[in-house]
Amino acid sequence: QGGSTVSITVVGASGDLAKKKIFPALFALFYEDCLPEHFTVFGYARSKMSDEELRTMISRTLTCRIDKRENCGDKMEQFLQRCFYQSGQYNTEEGFAELDRKLKEKEEGRLPNRLFYLSIPPNIFVDVVRSASRTASSSSGWTRFIVEKPFGRDSESSGELTRSLKKYLAEEQIFRIDHYLGKELVENLSVLRFSNLVFEPLWSRNYIRNVQLIFSEDFGTEGRGGYFDNYGIIRDIMQNHLLQILALFAMETPVSLDAEDIRNEKVKVLRSMRQLKLEDVVVGQYKGHTRGGKSFPGYADDPTVPKGSITPTFAAAALFIDNARWDGVPFLMKAGKALHTRRAEIRVQFRRVPGNLYRRNIGTDLDTATNELVLRVQPDEAIYLKINNKVPGLGMRLDRSNLNLLYSERYRREIPDAYERLLLDAIEGERRLFIRSDELDAAWGIFTPVLRELEDKRVAPELYPYGSRGPVGAHYLAANYNVRWGDVTGDDGSF
Ligand code: NAP
Repeated sequence: QGGSTVSITVVGASGDLAKKKIFPALFALFYEDCLPEHFTVFGYARSKMSDEELRTMISRTLTCRIDKRENCGDKMEQFLQRCFYQSGQYNTEEGFAELDRKLKEKEEGRLPNRLFYLSIPPNIFVDVVRSASRTASSSSGWTRFIVEKPFGRDSESSGELTRSLKKYLAEEQIFRIDHYLGKELVENLSVLRFSNLVFEPLWSRNYIRNVQLIFSEDFGTEGRGGYFDNYGIIRDIMQNHLLQILALFAMETPVSLDAEDIRNEKVKVLRSMRQLKLEDVVVGQYKGHTRGGKSFPGYADDPTVPKGSITPTFAAAALFIDNARWDGVPFLMKAGKALHTRRAEIRVQFRRVPGNLYRRNIGTDLDTATNELVLRVQPDEAIYLKINNKVPGLGMRLDRSNLNLLYSERYRREIPDAYERLLLDAIEGERRLFIRSDELDAAWGIFTPVLRELEDKRVAPELYPYGSRGPVGAHYLAANYNVRWGDVTGDDGSF
């Protein structure tokens, strides 16, 4: 970095995401010596706070990795001394002009580079970009803005947001974050596929029967329904996180690992996808449930949710890619809140072995005896491959076993939070894991018509009890395409 410096301004510093994720991620990067030698962190929000108060606030959420506890206190103090606060409005330039003045002071004449993290509600994105870009952009270094979802509610509003941002910023200054792309297992998807001979040749309609992308949370909105109700699970999880994983999973081999080469392939695959149809979607909403004497409130019981809301808290969808590699292969997505488990995983179900010599010995039905590759993104990161195996002994009985790579056993280290990787990439100008505007357009294009239809027709969600496996409609949807959800079979292949 030589004579340069980086200032990171967290706009919305008083908020939840800033406290929970962004400051801790910045500290982790500092602790790992990943930040440039000269850096400054600024918090910016309307709340009145002194530098000391900001430091006290963020010090409560900083942690050190379990395997690196030494010097933790000293490092924290050094980090906090580099954190400052500026209070100001979002829609006027005065606060940002004052910020600019303070930034210049800290930059001490070095080549200034500035990163703004917009950790604020979406209705003020454009205000902040306008004011900050005009008054607090770097004069001679780079200026970048990280933006968090939601990027609009549909094709139109997303296009409008992009156009508004581009009045003030060039595309290469905008870093649209999808924190799922920073998750270890999602990053590993391409490594697994492109650097192991045994997977890539199978990665097509010839050998893969279906792919499942599953996200479930074991808690509901719990008082944060106000934000959620305006979006619903399809916009909150499917259109971004699950679709991004799908694009990485299904893209053709990129020319190189350069960001533009990868993003070109992702956009191609997204543009080859069919628009989602209403008959290929099942929506659900959780209802109250009492279990073991404890009662769990339904979505409609959340006081922050408008009365009579039909916003889906669960959705299942069947998507298709109309290209030579994936023609006819169903990509099934399932995402829901208040389900029986918390997990995110990718499941690849392979075709049956043609003329299987051992079909009589398999025991369970042939359908469940196919190979399945599972990438568990969270929790307990793991990759496992289900195979048929001979049960040791004199007879010839087969069972289903796992070739198992459990990260916690193989790699005895804490896995960095997704925000750490993404922040570091933004500082280094690595755009591979950020969403380009044409990707975003293509992603909305797949979901916008069905979202509109669900809302226009006021499609009632199927109610499912809090803590259950979700609506049975999801099973019928999968059955239409001859698919069984992998996550409802035990690891031994049995239901
Ligand atoms: P938040 O706590 O609701 O808002 C962050 C800050 O913005 C607040 O501290 C407040 O600061 C300011 N603010 C809030 N409402 C405002 C309003 N109506 N007008 C002007 N300023 C307002 O948001 P968050 O949970 O930190 O999330 C930040 C962004 O990340 C949001 O866009 C959210 O959608 C996205 N996101 C959040 C999460 C998460 O885990 N929380 C996950 C993914 C994405 P002052 O009042 O001090 O100015």
